[in-house]
Amino acid sequence: MNFTSIHFAALLLVSCLAGEQVFAADALWKAGVAKANITPAEPIWMAGYGGRTNPAEGKVMDLWIKALALEDARGRRAVIVTSDTLGISQSIYINVCAAAKTRLGLEPEQLMLSASHTHCGPVLRGALYDIYPLDDERRSRIDKYSAGLETKIVETIGKALAELAPARVAAGQASTPFAVNRRNNREADVPKLIQQGALKGPVDHSVPVLAVFLPDGKLKAVLFGYACHNTTMDFYQWSGDYAGFAQLALEKSRTNAMAMFFGGCGADQNPLPRRQLALTERYGNMLASAVEEVLLAPPRTLSPELATAMETVTLNLGAAPTEAELEKLKEDKNASTQRWATRLLGDLKSGKQFIRTYPYPVQVWRLGDQVLVTLGGEVVVDYALKFKMEFGPQTWVAGYCNDVMAYIPSLRVLKEGGYEGGGAHIVYGLPAYRWAEDVEELITASAQRLVKQVQTSRK
Ligand SMILES: [Zn+2]
Repeated sequence: MNFTSIHFAALLLVSCLAGEQVFAADALWKAGVAKANITPAEPIWMAGYGGRTNPAEGKVMDLWIKALALEDARGRRAVIVTSDTLGISQSIYINVCAAAKTRLGLEPEQLMLSASHTHCGPVLRGALYDIYPLDDERRSRIDKYSAGLETKIVETIGKALAELAPARVAAGQASTPFAVNRRNNREADVPKLIQQGALKGPVDHSVPVLAVFLPDGKLKAVLFGYACHNTTMDFYQWSGDYAGFAQLALEKSRTNAMAMFFGGCGADQNPLPRRQLALTERYGNMLASAVEEVLLAPPRTLSPELATAMETVTLNLGAAPTEAELEKLKEDKNASTQRWATRLLGDLKSGKQFIRTYPYPVQVWRLGDQVLVTLGGEVVVDYALKFKMEFGPQTWVAGYCNDVMAYIPSLRVLKEGGYEGGGAHIVYGLPAYRWAEDVEELITASAQRLVKQVQTSRK
């Protein structure tokens, strides 16, 4: 190629890029937002910790569900719902999907139901019942609250869709370091390890940010994520924990904008040190500050093109407990293990078969050139790191989406064992000690298929 042809090729490239920019600047998405307060009115049981001895006594802040509806230039729609909950349970997910389909025309692949995994939110229907001392009255309060939550989620999605209006959507990423790998660092040692710069284990400190701007440039909504347990506090006050403080800080600095949080692959990550409200607020401010960094950068505009794809993967459970093992575990010193064993023995005696597989949701969206992978359950950080290697460093990976049924270990963590490797199956009430060894392989293969699907749908 001589100079002239290089020059011509360069000119062509510049004009193509310019053309794309004009397209990006001219054509707009449509976006709509809505939110609903879900702070329980009744003193219902709090989720996440088995050691609590009474229901909530008050609140540090209100709990929310927030919906962001998006529509691309061709009229394709998707709705992100974030929630100050431990995790949306299977029955709630199924009921919301059914209502969203019949009443709003949304397929499950168009709906992302995310949970912040706050441990200062309410227990939801069917979620981790064995770890709480629930009597009939407590259960009926949880049932009533959960039914109300389903209604509110569907109504809020409907309101966000009804509000769809032209918007510019942009994406970017920053980072903040308060997540610590809890499998590789003893909690009591963390302050010293931080001082020494000696923390160990894989982490994902990225803060993915999706910003939605009104045509006049004002921020309408900002969605951001972080891969870390939302467990700074374990007290008796309703609270969105650090993610709640981050949303409050952003909604204060960005008047009239709605801030939304999704959990990343933080199943083996804790905000450390913790157990002080001042630290909770500090972590929230660190996260909000990372989001501001992206907003000021500024983030890159996404072309108004949406693709959504989803699969339900049949995950295999590992060995089921035998009747003899359950008889022994019925006398375990741990009350939640006793309740789990007693319940499963009852199932066996009544002739009920244990489930051997679980329908696991894997979802992939593409917004312009931004790929978002969402996974069910509490996903360990290995998945985010692996998917970023495989699909590009810009990829976002959310956990705690659509159904939070268990921990999701990588094969490494499964083989290492411990709580995230399998121990938590009893906490979640599953009739198995852990997943089968193909868990990572099955989820990865599904994500690969779906990423390919949303990439090839590019026009
Ligand atoms: Zn957890």
